[in-house]
Amino acid sequence: MVRIVVLIALPLMLFAAYAENMRWKNGETFLTFLEANKMPQSLYYDLDKEDQKLTEEIITGVEYQVLFDANNSLEQVLIPVNDELQLHLMRKEGTFAFEALPIISELRRDAFVVKIENSPYIDITNATGSSRVAQSFVNGFKNSLNFRRDLRKGDPLVMIYTRKYRLGKPFTLPRLEVAMIEMRGKRHYLYLNSDERYYNEKGNEVEGFLLARPVRNARVSSGFTKRRFHPILKRYRAHLGIDYAARRGTPIMAAGSGKIIFAGYTRGYGNLTKIRHKDGYMTLYAHQKSFKRGIGRGKYVKKGQVIGYVGTTGLSTGPHLHFGLYKNGRAVNPARVVQVSTNKLKAQKLKAFKELKAELDDEIELYLEVEQQAEQVTLFENTCYVDPDTCQQIVSKEDLMDETL
Ligand SMILES: [Zn+2]
Repeated sequence: MVRIVVLIALPLMLFAAYAENMRWKNGETFLTFLEANKMPQSLYYDLDKEDQKLTEEIITGVEYQVLFDANNSLEQVLIPVNDELQLHLMRKEGTFAFEALPIISELRRDAFVVKIENSPYIDITNATGSSRVAQSFVNGFKNSLNFRRDLRKGDPLVMIYTRKYRLGKPFTLPRLEVAMIEMRGKRHYLYLNSDERYYNEKGNEVEGFLLARPVRNARVSSGFTKRRFHPILKRYRAHLGIDYAARRGTPIMAAGSGKIIFAGYTRGYGNLTKIRHKDGYMTLYAHQKSFKRGIGRGKYVKKGQVIGYVGTTGLSTGPHLHFGLYKNGRAVNPARVVQVSTNKLKAQKLKAFKELKAELDDEIELYLEVEQQAEQVTLFENTCYVDPDTCQQIVSKEDLMDETL
């Protein structure tokens, strides 16, 4: 971060440079972005496959920063591709240099107790100022509990969650660590285990959104990572999905039921299918040899239904399925929701879970005792990754209401 600040702050001091916050438009691609800003297209074509694919991960609506010099010519650009990695373009010796840089953010852990007045959703939103926090609580219990039937006024609930902040502003979705709600004198719990899955107090996995494996008998050749440093290339990389190595022609199945929102060719992902599911989830199937006949945009598919065949189209080095999972437009680790054979903890795993549970239970007791108040999420009006003093940001009312990027 220090390096980035210096890089950007220096020209700011020397010239009347200025920074602007922009939003990535719907339909905008890295190539159209370069064109619109009169930057050479070679900036994209000279990148290696991995970096080219990374540019396809830029999310519509993401806030990015552009620094101009005194003559209004573009000096630097910082575009986040996820909550850990950003693309940095910088003018250098008459052209532009490209690199992927880590995003520095602060992880905060918050806890609160709420006594029911209306509903968990309304009361948590009121207490925290964040409907997203409320949503994560409600989603966690919605398949196992009936709030409407069993909740009474004054019933307590506790939630502990983490969230990344950048310059005082929420930067990621809240991540529920543990939640408890008491209904008719009975307590119900939800714990995030070290395997990244949710369990109830008995160590049984809580069924939320569960996906089937999209290919049978396939080996995972590359896992999910938001940011890793490649020791040989000496560069930052991200892999926003799971790669399943399989023979060419192996059937690919819809990991969940939903509606096909894209089935076509893209440069990076080759033959690509995207399926929209409930609760803001979307799955992505890349590098396919071909699509199953009849599979196209607008069609509804069932979990397990064949949608295409494994191949190596697009920027790919061998036959495999690149499988991506997105929640509200952001890449999440599919390993968290892809169904495994067992969803009941046993032996060593159960023991480790019980230890974690005991610690979290103690915390919950403590918060209940002190009736921990929620801290309101504050959305700053003047946020800028570059320099808050010179940042000329235009913030609309909608922006303030919307906690997304
Ligand atoms: Zn991949």
